[in-house]
Formats: sequence, structure tokens, C-alpha cells
Amino acid sequence: MPKKARDPQKNENYHLRTRLIHGSADNTKWDYDHHVVPPISSSTTYRLNSTHRGVQGFLEFGADEAGAPRHAPIYIYDRLDEPTRGMLEENLATAEGGETAVCFATGMAAISAVFGVTVKQHEEIVAHQVLYGCTYSLLTNWLPRAGITTRFVDLMNPNSLNEVLNEQTRVVYFETPINPTLQLIDIARVRRLVDQANKGRKVPIRIIVDNTFATPYCQRPLEHGADIVVHSLTKDIGGFGTDMGGAVIAPHDLHGLLMYYRKDFGGVLTSKSAWAFLVYGLPTLATRMVNQQKSAQKIAQFLDQHPLVAQVSYPGLEHYPQRELALRQMTDDRGRFAPGSVLHFTLKKEEGGNRHAEAFIDYIAEHSYTITLAVSLGHTKTLIENPYGMTHAAVPEERKLALGIEPGGIRLAVGLEDWRDLISDLDQALTHVSQLS
Ligand SMILES: *Cc1c(COP(=O)(O)O)cnc(C)c1O
Repeated sequence: MPKKARDPQKNENYHLRTRLIHGSADNTKWDYDHHVVPPISSSTTYRLNSTHRGVQGFLEFGADEAGAPRHAPIYIYDRLDEPTRGMLEENLATAEGGETAVCFATGMAAISAVFGVTVKQHEEIVAHQVLYGCTYSLLTNWLPRAGITTRFVDLMNPNSLNEVLNEQTRVVYFETPINPTLQLIDIARVRRLVDQANKGRKVPIRIIVDNTFATPYCQRPLEHGADIVVHSLTKDIGGFGTDMGGAVIAPHDLHGLLMYYRKDFGGVLTSKSAWAFLVYGLPTLATRMVNQQKSAQKIAQFLDQHPLVAQVSYPGLEHYPQRELALRQMTDDRGRFAPGSVLHFTLKKEEGGNRHAEAFIDYIAEHSYTITLAVSLGHTKTLIENPYGMTHAAVPEERKLALGIEPGGIRLAVGLEDWRDLISDLDQALTHVSQLS
């Protein structure tokens, strides 16, 4: 047996941080016993040494992994299946504690696919009322064209579910922490309510959580009762801001459907990007999150006591309104509190506008060495933006105001710089704004 072929079951005894680096040491996707780093595979099509093998490959495509053949996969064509992406999928499923993962070209391709395989014409989605801007646009502009309706509710008060769940409901969808407000939704509580609603139903309602903000290092929604997790790999899992990708982590029964959906809609993750996530992203995730989180905590505390700052939302703050939930839900795999690396804050005296926030962000854009004005998050570099006008531009104005997405809100996605330098640049920009009339 090769040196690294350990019992995959035993790998579960290792910490998440270690498993993100070594993955499943023994896998059938690729023979890389002599590579320390797996090679980048780059082949759109695969040589088949007999028609029989080709027929077999098509027969086995999309097989539920539990019933998957014991031999190495028969690869046919990149859009169907591919070894580097396959290895990434195994590691992502392990990281989230899920049964199977399927990767897509972007986070939005993954989110479109998860609805594609769980909801059809005349059926309904229930979603939290604040969502990533493009997800909101997908639910309100595109899915209605396929006869799929979304009912938006405030899942921060999960009892509101009882008013909207009905015979047509197929999924309950939300992000936690919520982008951009950094508020939390209690996954276990939603689970209990959905379990009640599922009693006697032919088709059970599934709970889908977008775990992009927390990453599996800080929160594993399946442990709290979610059925499916989606990710934008473009953010913290990628970590370096070089590649786009998305993933759906789901039970075995959805594996084949997701693979067929991806094959036919075509939003497949390229092997080159899969390799970057596999080799650079996942193995450094724990280390990056630990450092980003430490800086986010220091920055949140600094902003919290600054006279010009009106309000800071960060689950790590002691007076965070949902402190008890944060401590219970956002933990690393050893149970230590892990409040993540994104924070949101507002400045005083905005009077419903964004004059100070704009001056603040523009000052940073022009003068800061460490903080970059850019959308996205989970990068080595710290990024700042104004969600109201930028990432959440797709949400209608009245809705944004009603939902507490304030014109003057500032989102900071903390990177890997020294936190002292970040605070010093923020402090300078605050001084600049406090001198404005
Ligand atoms: C970025 C993001 C997405 C979309 O991911 P892409 O990779 O940009 O398509 C979805 N959800 C959340 C919470 C995000 O931050």
C-alpha cells in the first residue's frame, strides 16, 4: 500500500485544519502517489480504450456516490466530470461534513443549480428578506419566468415561517451571517419549525444555507440542521482573489441531479480554478481565517469605541445583539468561537444619507495603503465597500430602506495585513471625516 493510503474513516479523527491540507489521502480520482501536489489536469476529452468503456462511463455518470463503482471513475468529457475538480469536491464535502459536493463556475451558478434541482414550476421558495444582491435578482427577475415564486420573510424571527410555508413550498433559503448587515439566523430553530411543517408531507421542505461569509472553518450549517450548503468559492475558500467558483454540498440523493444539471446548463468549474482552490485555497483556509478573525475583532473593538462611529455589527463583539446565538452557531471544529472576518458599520450624523460614508470610503480609496475600495471579500487584501450603492444595487431602494440596508453602511472584509496598520489607516480616514463640517 502507498504510504499515504490511510483509512478514510480514521481521517475524521484529525482536526479540520489538518484535513483541509491533506484531503482524503487515498482517493481514486487520480494516482498522485508520487506527487506532493496533485498535477493540474487539463484535458477536455478522455481516451476510451473500448466502446464498452465509453458505454460504461455514460452509464456510471452521475451515480449516487454511495452506490458509485469501486473502480476509478471513467472520465469522458470535462463538462461531465474531471479528476482535479473531483478531488476538490471530496474535500469540500468533508469540510462541511456533507455527503457530496458539486462545483460550479461561480457562486451564482451553484445557487441557480440548487434551485434548479429542488424547485419546479408552480412551486415556491421561502427566503430571508435580505440576500446577496444577485441571489435576490435571481429569485425576483429570473425564477418567476419559470413559474417559481419566492416568498420573502424575516427569518430573524423564525416563527414568521408558519405564515408562509404551504403545500407548494420546497425550500427555505438564507445566508447567515446575513450580507451585509452581519445579523444571524438561527439554523437549529429554522430546522425545528421546518420539521413540524414536514410532518405528513410527501415532499419534505429542504433548508439551504449560503455559508460563504462564515466558511466551514467558522460554521458548518449541516451540523445545525441545514440540508444543503452553497458557497461562492470566489471568496474566503479561494482566499487569494484569483479564481471564481461555486459549490453545492448536498445529500447523496441530489448528487446525480446536480451533475446532470451542471452537464446540461454547462456552468462547470474549470480544472485550473479547481486546482487553485484545492492547492492554495482549502489548505490555507484555517490559517487565513484565524488571522483575519483576530484582526476583525481588534478592528471591531477599535471602531466600537470611536466617537464618530454610530454602530458596529460584528458577531465577535461582546454586546452583539445575538451574542448567545453567535456563540452557539459560529464555532470552529473544536468548538471555539469563530465570528468570521467581515464587519459592517455606520458613521454618526448621516441623517439618512451617506455623505460621511462616501467621504470616508473615498479618502481610503485615495490615501490608504492597506485598504482597497472593491467589492468581494475573503481576499489577502482588506476590501471596503458601500453595500447600499454597490453589492446590493439590485435591491429596490424602498426595500433596502425597509430592510435596514442603510445608505451610509460600510462593509469591511478583513484581509491578512497587520491589524495595527489597518486600524491606523481607518483612524486617519475617521480623522479626515471628523474635520468635515
Ligand atoms: C459573492 C457571493 C455570492 C456569489 O458568488 P460568485 O462567485 O460571485 O458568483 C453568493 N453569495 C454570497 C453571500 C456572496 O458573497
